[in-house]
Amino acid sequence: MSLETIYGELILDHSKHPRNFGKLDESDETVEGANPLCGDEIEIQVKTEGDRITGIAFTGHSCAICLASTSMFCENAEGKSFAELDELRNIFHNLLRGNELTDSERTKLGDAFALSGVGKLPARVKCATLVYETWDVLRKKLEQDRG
Ligand code: ZN
Repeated sequence: MSLETIYGELILDHSKHPRNFGKLDESDETVEGANPLCGDEIEIQVKTEGDRITGIAFTGHSCAICLASTSMFCENAEGKSFAELDELRNIFHNLLRGNELTDSERTKLGDAFALSGVGKLPARVKCATLVYETWDVLRKKLEQDRG
């Protein structure tokens, strides 16, 4: 099986069976993100302890790429610190720009590496990056909450 097929199947798997999809019983912050170019709308809820994500869930209506990317991010975000998620966002942007990643960067990205091909589809880049933009907003809100 070619790598491209494997990546395609990972994207399909996440879009058909999104991880962390639903609502948390208890959350510290909720934020919505939208990509009007495609009609993607997501809402992310998090539970935190200090500067670490201890629970994360999302809902929304979106295309398969946005759904897969959000699922991949949320699955990866659980247990991570805010700084680690910022790093993940930077690595993901580098991936879509077509930059070479180090082995450790690839490992950190996890399944999200499967979205590398989206960088060649400019109209879909926003679908894949919406969750990372939404994380930016969420992080700012969390920092305001902490004062
Ligand atoms: Zn989309």
